Amino acid sequence: MSVPEWWTDADAGELDVLVWEFTGAVEAHWPTCAECQAGPWCTTLRDALEVVLAWKRGREFLSRAAWLREQQTLREREVARRAA
Ligand SMILES: [Zn+2]
Repeated sequence: MSVPEWWTDADAGELDVLVWEFTGAVEAHWPTCAECQAGPWCTTLRDALEVVLAWKRGREFLSRAAWLREQQTLREREVARRAA
C-alpha cells in the first residue's frame, strides 16, 4: 500500500509518537485491568484508541486539504505565468 502524496514525513512522525505513547499506555494499563484481561478491551482503552484514530482522521483531512490547496495555487500561478 502506497503512502498518499499529501501524507508528510511530519505527519508520519507525529503518528509514530501517538502510537508509541498509546502502546505504552496499553502495556501499563492491561496488567491492572480485570476487564481487559477477561475479554475485549475496556471502555478506557477503547476510548483512548478512538482518540488516536480520530487524530489520524483529522490529520489526514488537514494534510490532504493543505496539499490540494498547494496544488491549486501552483496551477493558478502557472496559468498566470503563461498568460503574462
Ligand atoms: Zn482495561
